[in-house]
Amino acid sequence: MARHTTITIPDDMLPHDGRFGSGPSRVDSRFVQELGDPGDMYLGTSHRRSGVRDVVRSVQDGLTRMYNLPDGYEVVLGVGGATLFWDAAAFGLISNRSAHFVCGEFSEKFAAVAASAPHLDAPVIISAEYGSAPEPEDCEGVDVAAYIHNETSTGVLAPFARTGDALVVVDGTSAAGAIHIDPVEIDVYYFSPQKALGSEGGLWIAIMSPAAIDRIHELAASKRWIPSSLSLAIALDNSRKNQTYNTPALVTLYLIERQISSMLKTGGIREAARHSERSSRHLYSWAHRSDFAQPFVENERFRSPTVVTLDLTPSVSADAIAAILRDNGIVDIEGYRKLGRNQLRIATFPNIPTSDVEALTACFDYVAERM
Ligand SMILES: *Cc1c(COP(=O)(O)O)cnc(C)c1O
Repeated sequence: MARHTTITIPDDMLPHDGRFGSGPSRVDSRFVQELGDPGDMYLGTSHRRSGVRDVVRSVQDGLTRMYNLPDGYEVVLGVGGATLFWDAAAFGLISNRSAHFVCGEFSEKFAAVAASAPHLDAPVIISAEYGSAPEPEDCEGVDVAAYIHNETSTGVLAPFARTGDALVVVDGTSAAGAIHIDPVEIDVYYFSPQKALGSEGGLWIAIMSPAAIDRIHELAASKRWIPSSLSLAIALDNSRKNQTYNTPALVTLYLIERQISSMLKTGGIREAARHSERSSRHLYSWAHRSDFAQPFVENERFRSPTVVTLDLTPSVSADAIAAILRDNGIVDIEGYRKLGRNQLRIATFPNIPTSDVEALTACFDYVAERM
């Protein structure tokens, strides 16, 4: 039951497409239409045959080109998303003890996985207040340093660095495809495809360095019990054959392949990053000018270019604005529930044109004046 009075926004003010969610995020509708073509012979075919394996290979090659991966780096994938990857990492990447740099829901969840694994020592947890991020540091006695590139729950762009011998393992879920990285700084960069890369959920994809691959082989050869569906060694073995251990969603693979290929034709990650920066800059500066909104992340260094969180003054309800916009076809700008703030959260991923973000702020002004 809506408890707000609705305001109708004139059609010519509305964004071209109303999807601004941080994940699942706006999918390029052209790719979805292509999938429906029955002549395609893709959906409904075997993931062990060339039709699907060519798509997997193209995703692997596309990411290799997008990040200009050095020799020896590999693109590994499996079924289950970033959440499953945390469990797989607890079995196959962490030898004894990990350090976790925590600044929100997602980085917290990986820390909780490591803390509950009976075969691992208690992790080192370095946390920052929500809206900020911890500085990288060298932690004694850890063999994995787990960072998050972009904390989707709070809209924080977090720093990471190679500070010691530990493998640098970075959650890139709402950053991959929209924020540049230097792969040399990272041993594992893993993500789900339904955020910055505007595809569907259900897969994890990980860029891995030779050191990470050595660790996977070392733990697979140890006495540790590793369930097959969580085994990174099995995933690696299958990825080398351009397939996954168990059956993936072919729709997800198709959408991410098309997204990556089309990005590579239009300037690659640098152009995508410029796009997200431009869109997010528009939102942050709109908030500065507005008399009812301000960026939640105070330190500009930590402001995400892909997920923008804006606090509203108490007299203007973010939930009411989000509900009114939803009535007008603009969806998923509600703040992250567990933060419990009077907040809007808006994705500025590459699939969302800056002109739509500009239309969105005009809609905010239109609605706020009339509430
Ligand atoms: C959404 C998200 C996850 C979880 O992804 P799933 O595909 O649901 O497993 C992990 N990390 C970050 C940063 C996310 O944004």
